[in-house]
Amino acid sequence: MSVIVKGPGSMNKRRRIYEGKAKVLYEGPEPGTLIAHFKDDATAFNAKKHALIEGKGVLNNRISEYIFQRLGEIGVPTHFLKRLNMREQLIREVEIIPLEVVVRNVAAGSLSARLGLEEGMQLPRSIIEFYYKADNLNDPMVSEEHITAFGWATPQEIDEIMQLALRVNDFLVGLFLGIGIRLVDFKVEFGRLWDNEQMRIVLADEISPDCCRLWDISSGDKLDKDRFRRDLGGVLEAYQEVARRLGVLTENRPPKGIGPVLVASNPTGKPN
Ligand code: C5P
Repeated sequence: MSVIVKGPGSMNKRRRIYEGKAKVLYEGPEPGTLIAHFKDDATAFNAKKHALIEGKGVLNNRISEYIFQRLGEIGVPTHFLKRLNMREQLIREVEIIPLEVVVRNVAAGSLSARLGLEEGMQLPRSIIEFYYKADNLNDPMVSEEHITAFGWATPQEIDEIMQLALRVNDFLVGLFLGIGIRLVDFKVEFGRLWDNEQMRIVLADEISPDCCRLWDISSGDKLDKDRFRRDLGGVLEAYQEVARRLGVLTENRPPKGIGPVLVASNPTGKPN
């Protein structure tokens, strides 16, 4: 069966399902699919601060594609299907669980403020926090008690979410360490996906410098949205640097680790 994906020119004709701060979701080409369109909008402090950072959406689309693909390869179920173009990716439609799941390795941001911890302090172990997704309430932090009492997720779903979040964290810590970046913390979201009668929890939303704290290992420079939140400048350059180190900036990247390796030729033809 052929899949017709409408080009950017016909974008307005597509049915818009949802518009968030950094993405728009459109109806996908087949039932059960959506198209996520990454915008250049940057917001902070529950959209009290807003700016357009030209090119950010393109970078986040590529970075998130790369990370979701790598996570898929190690068996983390995700909503990602394929990237369609510079700003869009095809995803599975999931029922979003109304929680922001934050994983922290190093004290920073709201944790430092709440508990009076110096930013940069390595935490004794990775810490998971849940925030209830509600803009009108500024996404309050909630406990497992709230989550189960109000029916946002079952105890079994919370267990699965925590296991997946820690797997994602372990993988990302190593991935970023390999390119000289310290993964301080990040936020992820999960959704429910039904295969016939079976329900699975899958990783949803995006993973990009918009929702991670990424510090350069040697200089400590921030390579994430804190550059925008804290008016540090160089937001796009920081995102570009993350994309460059991940190797996702060139369109036709040759496959890594396979194929012939060119060795120096021996013009005499005699054994060396
Ligand atoms: O602000 P806070 O320290 O709680 O943020 C923890 C992590 O979650 C940071 O990496 C931040 O970018 C991310 N986050 C997010 N969206 C929010 C709140 C936090 O991506 N609404």
